[in-house]
Amino acid sequence: MAGCGTISPDTIKPPPVRAIDFTIDIQPIIVSKDWTINMFEYLAGNLGPALAQAGVACRVLEPIIVDNPSWEYIADESALRGMMQGHSAAIRVWLVRELVPAVLSETSTSALAAPPAGAAYSPTSSCDGVALAVRAMEDRNTLVHEMGHALGLSHPAEGADNCSLPEVKCRLMSYCFATRNQFSADEIDTIRHWAAVLATQPAAQ
Ligand SMILES: [Zn+2]
Repeated sequence: MAGCGTISPDTIKPPPVRAIDFTIDIQPIIVSKDWTINMFEYLAGNLGPALAQAGVACRVLEPIIVDNPSWEYIADESALRGMMQGHSAAIRVWLVRELVPAVLSETSTSALAAPPAGAAYSPTSSCDGVALAVRAMEDRNTLVHEMGHALGLSHPAEGADNCSLPEVKCRLMSYCFATRNQFSADEIDTIRHWAAVLATQPAAQ
C-alpha cells in the first residue's frame, strides 16, 4: 500500500476515496441522559471520510438515550457482552463513561495495562457494535479503529505492532496513534464484504 508520509500528523497523505456503493446505518446509544454530547456530528464527521476509502457511506441515526447507570462503567467482558449482545441492522455505537477495570482488551479477555478507550465485536460474534469511552471522543481515529473491528478487521502485525514499519504506521488498525489514517486493500475488501452483508439485513423498525 502507499505510504502515509513521514511520522507527522500534519504531513500524512489523505487516504484515497472510491465511489460510494454501500451505505451502512450507525445507531448511537448514549447511556446517560446527562451527557449532552453531539454523537451525530462526531460519528458522521469521523466515520464518513474513513469509510469512504472502502466506498462505504454511513448514515447516522437519531441517538438513543438509554439512561442506564449500570452501563456507564463497564466492569468486565461479561458486562460488555450483556450490553452489546445480539445484532441489529444498524451498527450500534455505545458511548459509556469508562471501560474499567483494566481487564478488557479490545477483542479478547487478555488484560491491558490501562483501560481501553474502546471495544468492539466482530460481525461473526454473538454481539455486535462498538463501545467507546467518552474520553475517546477526543481521538477521532479510535472510533474508526473500533468500527474496523466491528466490520471484521484485526490488528496488523498482531503482537509486534511496530510503527516504524511503513506498512504498519499508517494503518487505522494499528496502534500508531499519530499517523494512522488508512485501511489496507485487504481491509477494504473485508469492510466491503460486511457492508454488503449488512445491506441484505432488514432495516431496523
Ligand atoms: Zn484494536
